[in-house]
Amino acid sequence: MSTSSNQPLQPHIALFPSAGMGHLTPFLRVAAMLDAHNVNVTLITPQPTLSAAESDTIDSFFAIHPQIKRLDFHVIPYNPPTPDDPFFIQWEATNRSLHLLPPLISSLSPPLTAFFSDFSMATNMIPITDRLGIPNFILLTTSARFLSVMAYSPFLSSPEISNTNMNHITIPGLTSNIPKSSIPPPLLRPGKSLFASTLASNILSFSKVKGILLNSFEFFESETITAFNNDQVQQGFPPVLPIGPISPYGLVQDHHPLPWLNEQPAKSVLYVSFGSRTALSKDQIKALAEGLDRSGHRFLWVLKGGKVDKEDKEELDELLGHSFLERTRNKGIVVKGWVSQEDILQHPAVGGFVSHCGWNSVMEAALHGVPVLAWPLHGDQRINAELVEKSGLGLWEREWGWGGEKLIDGEEIAEKIKVVMEDEVLRGKACNVGKEARRAVQKDGGSEKVLAQVINSLKPKE
Ligand code: UDP
Ligand code: UDP
Ligand code: UDP
Repeated sequence: MSTSSNQPLQPHIALFPSAGMGHLTPFLRVAAMLDAHNVNVTLITPQPTLSAAESDTIDSFFAIHPQIKRLDFHVIPYNPPTPDDPFFIQWEATNRSLHLLPPLISSLSPPLTAFFSDFSMATNMIPITDRLGIPNFILLTTSARFLSVMAYSPFLSSPEISNTNMNHITIPGLTSNIPKSSIPPPLLRPGKSLFASTLASNILSFSKVKGILLNSFEFFESETITAFNNDQVQQGFPPVLPIGPISPYGLVQDHHPLPWLNEQPAKSVLYVSFGSRTALSKDQIKALAEGLDRSGHRFLWVLKGGKVDKEDKEELDELLGHSFLERTRNKGIVVKGWVSQEDILQHPAVGGFVSHCGWNSVMEAALHGVPVLAWPLHGDQRINAELVEKSGLGLWEREWGWGGEKLIDGEEIAEKIKVVMEDEVLRGKACNVGKEARRAVQKDGGSEKVLAQVINSLKPKE
C-alpha cells in the first residue's frame, strides 16, 4: 500500500517473542492478525530454539505466511552459575544478546513504526526502540490478573509478606484478597530463580512502554482491566489493551488424534494436557491414568515425560504400563508428541479439558467454551485458575497444591473428571464464556476494535 508520494501508509511492526511455545504461539497469532490487517510484519525469533515444537512451528508459520519477514536472532549461549529452567536460561541468554539487535533492525525497509516485545525483555528493549524513535508495546503472554501480581511483585518479598503466616494478600486491582498460596513461590523468595529475577528486572520498565497488549477480553477480566486503565493499580501504568482471545492462524500440524475423535459421540471425550513444557511426576502420571480409567469417560491424553521435547524419549509403555494401555484401548488414546490443541478443542467430540491453565490454553478453552478442570502446577497458573473458576469456565480443586507438592490419587481425580464431564450447569456456563469470547473477536467486538485502534494509531503520518 502506498500513497501518491510512495510513502507507506501501513505500519511496519516487528514482533519478538522469547523462548517457549507459550510465548511463541501468541506472537505468531498476533503476527497473522496484523498481516490480515495489511500491516507489514517482521517476526524475530531467538535461535536456536530450545524445543523441536518451536522450530517446527516457526518453519510452518513462514511457509503459510511468506509475506511476513523472517529475522533469526542468534542468541549467545549463557551458562548460569546455578542450574535453572532451560527456557528461563534462554530468556536470560536472549537478554544478554540484545546488543546484537539494533544493526539487524535499523536497516529494515520500510522503517519500523512499532515494536511488540515480550515482557521478559522490556527493560533492554526500551533504549533500542527509543533510539529508533518508535513505540514499544508489550504483548503479554499471561492474564491481566497475573499482570496485577507482577505489578505488585516488588513488595511480595518484603518480610511482612514473605515471612509471616498471613494467608491472604491484598493486591491493587483485585477487589478481593487473594490467597498467598496462589502466588508463585519464587516471587516470595526472589534472587533464587531466573523466573523471579527476570520479572524483577523488567516490571519497573512497564510504565515506559506505549501499551500492554493483552490476550484476554473484557468479559473474562473486566474488573482488572478497568482497574489498570483507571490508574487504580499503579499511577502512570500504560494502557492495558485487551485484544483476545487472539485467534489461531490455521497452523498445519500433525492431526493424528483427529480421525479417532471423529468416531466419538458429541462432547464425550475429555482432553488432558499440561501444555508444552510441563511433565507430571512418574507417580502422578500413574495416578492420573487410574483416575481416567475409573472415571469411565473417554479421553485423549497428551502425555509429556520431560520439559524439553527433544529430551523426552520415554515410550508410553514405560510411563504407563502395558496393561493400562490395553485395558483402555477402546475408550481412550494417549499421544506422546505435539498435537494441534486448537483443532482438538474445537472438535465436537470434546466435552471437557483437564488443563494446567497456561494462559494460552485458558484462552483457547474460553474461545471454544470447553469446560475446564483446572490443575495448575507452576508460575501464573493458580492465578489463571482463579479466573477459570470466577468466569464459570470451569472448576478448580485448590487443595491439589503446586506441582510436586502432593500426590493426588486416582479416586479423587476420577470424581472431579465426572463433575466436569457430567455437570450440565457447568457446561452451560462454559458455553456462555465461549459466546462472549467469540463476540469479543468478531467484527465490531470489543477486542477487535481495540486491535484496530492500536493499528490505526501506529500508521505512519504523511
Ligand atoms: N500446544 C499444542 N499442542 C501440544 C501442547 C501445547 O498445540 O501438544 C499449544 C497450546 O494450544 C498453547 C501452547 O501450546 O497454545 C501452550 O501454551 P500455554 O500457555 O497453554 O502453556 P505452556 O506450554 O506455556 O505451559
Ligand atoms: N515453571 C513453569 N511455568 C512457569 C513457571 C515455572 O513450568 O510459568 C516451572 C519452572 O520450570 C520451574 C518449576 O516450574 O523449574 C518450578 O517453578 P515454580 O514456579 O513452581 O517454583 P518452585 O516449585 O521452585 O517453588
Ligand atoms: N486504547 C484503547 N483502550 C484503552 C487505552 C487505549 O482502546 O484503554 C487505544 C487508543 O484508542 C489508541 C491506542 O489504544 O488508539 C493506543 O493508545 P495510547 O493512548 O497509548 O495512544 P495514543 O492514542 O495516545 O497515540
